[in-house]
Amino acid sequence: MIELDGSEGEGGGQILRTSLTLSMITGRPLRIRQIRARRAKPGLMRQHLACVHAAMDISKAGCEGAELGSQTLTFRPGAIRAGDYRFAIASAGSCMLVLQTVLPALLAADGPSRIELQGGTHNPLAPSFDFVARAYAPLARKLGAGISLDLTRRGFYPAGGGAVAAAITPAAGGLTPMNIAHRGDAIALGAECVVAGVPRSVARRELDTLGAALDWPSAQLRVVDGRHNEGPGNALAAVLEYAELTEVFTAFGAKGVTAETVARSLAREVREYLDSDGALGPHLADQWLLLLALAVRDSGAPAHFTCSELTDHTLTNASVIERFLPVAIRHAPSSRGHRVDVLPV
Ligand code: ATP
Repeated sequence: MIELDGSEGEGGGQILRTSLTLSMITGRPLRIRQIRARRAKPGLMRQHLACVHAAMDISKAGCEGAELGSQTLTFRPGAIRAGDYRFAIASAGSCMLVLQTVLPALLAADGPSRIELQGGTHNPLAPSFDFVARAYAPLARKLGAGISLDLTRRGFYPAGGGAVAAAITPAAGGLTPMNIAHRGDAIALGAECVVAGVPRSVARRELDTLGAALDWPSAQLRVVDGRHNEGPGNALAAVLEYAELTEVFTAFGAKGVTAETVARSLAREVREYLDSDGALGPHLADQWLLLLALAVRDSGAPAHFTCSELTDHTLTNASVIERFLPVAIRHAPSSRGHRVDVLPV
């Protein structure tokens, strides 16, 4: 039984999702205490419970404490079973965080799976569909993972109601690690602003502000009209395509927040990344670390990457990964960013 203290490190939902994933993959039972102890409303919220239920489903796990508000969870996984799954989140919780939990586990299953997810696809503080489809999945494919993603309908916070389909095929013979030291040459840098049930003028103001802040001409800025059944919602995404990877940074419109404020906060985030030499941005780094550690375990070969920032999420993931997998994770500042090494032990 692996025992974790959920108040350690980042102290939020990340420790739960990463440990569920790794418990399923290694078959090692897990007990987490003090779940989300550092949050104003501690314990499992609806969105975290959806991740627990999805993990129980794909690994036929026995579980105690899978209840709203629960601060202790015991999870005993069985074998991960490939198959067709449907996971719905009743509230506007992010269904992309459910995908984040089950995807690496289904990559370790004995055959291909299909998942239909319902809930939020474009939520603040979670990977957006576009981030997963354009930044995360293409890198995962380079490790040998088969992943295809289809956005059926966007779901924005707080209305939710989105739908995503994912097809996941394990790599024959396990994942193969790769190093990502540099982004490579810039191919296309630009921004897209989705408006669904929100005036187009909001998108124009966001794009104009972002373009001015980053010195991007209008040819690099695009309004995307949401479908008639989506929204209301507004997502402003900077998409930075390089030879070695694509990064996606996202900000969301919200009631009482001006379009200019949304754009300026995104511009700051993009500027910090552009001012660094690290290949991966802060969010991609914490999510990539788990996949890379699995590839290092599968192959027995070391691998490294660089990132612009080493967040609490990344450090928390590193310590949870080291509890489950025979790897050591080392990090050190590099010229204008950080280098992370994953070593087999
Ligand atoms: P909490 O317990 O703190 O309420 P939570 O369970 O909702 O949080 P976090 O623990 O904050 O979620 O984890 C959020 C996950 O979503 C992390 O993997 C993080 O990298 C990712 N994420 C957050 N914002 C973005 C973003 N803008 N783009 C991509 N990924 C993101």
